[in-house]
Amino acid sequence: MKVTFLGTGTSQGVPVIACKSLVIDTGPDFRQQMLRENIERLDAVLFTHAHRDHTSGLDDVRAFNFKQQMDMPVYAVREVIDQIKVEFAYIFVNNNYPGLPRVDVREITSTPFSIDGISITPLPVMHMRLPVLGFRIGNFSYITDANYISDETIDLLKGTEVLVLNALQREKHISHFNLDEAIAMVDRIKPKATYFTHISHKLGLHGEVEKELPKGIALAYDGQQIDVA
Ligand SMILES: [Zn+2]
Ligand SMILES: [Zn+2]
Repeated sequence: MKVTFLGTGTSQGVPVIACKSLVIDTGPDFRQQMLRENIERLDAVLFTHAHRDHTSGLDDVRAFNFKQQMDMPVYAVREVIDQIKVEFAYIFVNNNYPGLPRVDVREITSTPFSIDGISITPLPVMHMRLPVLGFRIGNFSYITDANYISDETIDLLKGTEVLVLNALQREKHISHFNLDEAIAMVDRIKPKATYFTHISHKLGLHGEVEKELPKGIALAYDGQQIDVA
């Protein structure tokens, strides 16, 4: 499995998993990211939560609709689906106007599910008071926008080789792990390799922050690709 970090800044946190191409969230730069990474086929979109920095690029699935001649499968929990139906009402109301995005909404819960044979385990976490899903796919686990991970979800993360986790900034934040909290969480989960994402400019310069990170932890960067066994 190849994972590409499409965006790692605080307004996005988006990897795509190639071969079968799944994208987690469609941020505001979704179109540019798909072009930059030459993504010619997209099989599904998974949403972590409905904040705009994770959904606002949804309109641009249109290009894949045209090319693949199919509605785009979109996996999300009920609350996220409801929010998307409000924010992108034109997609869902009288959707027979040519050129509109076409999505095939598939409701998920915290129960594991599969997409074309790929098993996916949702990882419930909290983003202040908002429930958010991370996703575990084999040995790869992705958690953005969290400041609390329950013991139950830590159990689901056990044995993961690669962890992606949000680490916003140095100062404490109401809805994201700061750097110290993210490092402490990695120490509990103990993956082989960790990449921090959803990074604020307030975290500091990439090279300088990386020097002080414990072994096995790195800051992700846009366009970075990693192989996961
Ligand atoms: Zn958020
Ligand atoms: Zn966010």
